[in-house]
Amino acid sequence: MLTGTKLGYRGRFAPSPTGPLHAGSLVAALASWLDARAHGGRWLVRIEDVDTPRCTTGAAQIILQQLADCGLLPDEAPVWQSSRGHLYQLALDQLVKQGRAYACACSRKDIEQAIAAQGLQRERHGELVYPGTCRAGLGARPARAWRFKVAPGVLHWEDRRLGPQQQDVEDHVGDFVLKRADGLWAYQLAVVVDDAQQGITHIVRGQDLADNTARQIQLQQALQLPTPSYLHTPLVLGPDGEKLSKQNGAQPLDTSDPLRALNAAALVLGLSEQTGTRAQALAAWQAQWQASYNLPRD
Ligand code: GLU
Repeated sequence: MLTGTKLGYRGRFAPSPTGPLHAGSLVAALASWLDARAHGGRWLVRIEDVDTPRCTTGAAQIILQQLADCGLLPDEAPVWQSSRGHLYQLALDQLVKQGRAYACACSRKDIEQAIAAQGLQRERHGELVYPGTCRAGLGARPARAWRFKVAPGVLHWEDRRLGPQQQDVEDHVGDFVLKRADGLWAYQLAVVVDDAQQGITHIVRGQDLADNTARQIQLQQALQLPTPSYLHTPLVLGPDGEKLSKQNGAQPLDTSDPLRALNAAALVLGLSEQTGTRAQALAAWQAQWQASYNLPRD
């Protein structure tokens, strides 16, 4: 089910400027652009530069240029997360007031020891499932990070491409970090606050991010924010079978021949190869997208 109305549709592409776009990131960018256009909606770009140690100088400008080369132009000026800390702080304050966020004094070692003491092995994608130690208070220990108190039970959500999804966030992730020990805002909080504040109705992004959705819906519910509709796009895999990334040798996207770059992304999305001009190709894919997702035509 689509949630946004045709008029109210607002979508976004939200790259982290850790480097230039690669072939995999263009798939998500093209899909979110096509979905916005196919709905007659607006398409925004948000630069997700909260994790400053991972960002590289100049990457955001290169990304915006690569998108422009491909004819993917945002309808509003791009927003930068690094200038929005005050909004994330307001959200954290609200969660603390509601008893849904708490300070945590645990180091990684403390968490490992607490998990071992419970006789458990709880690690997932290299992240430890937080055992909830500081829910009961810090004792005399100094606060390091802030965590979200997750709600128990299985959360169900619908992905427009993948179908029904579910996750028990408490069991699989545990109370996750909202503000890190190094003072940086965590992706989960920033993305939820920004999507709501920018009025995003439809999220179209890579499938590697699908696993975050249940956490983000829990945060939306706690902050009384609307839940957008979700569509997670197929991933481009590197030679090691993992998602294409800088770590497994993804090359920066070459946009000197934009149609070639766009065609490669379109094929991953199940759209057909196009010749002609870039504008003709984008129009053809928009029609195909409209047909494959049963969206009304103008
Ligand atoms: N900034 C995230 C990334 O580049 C994407 C966030 C999102 O689309 O929700 O992986």
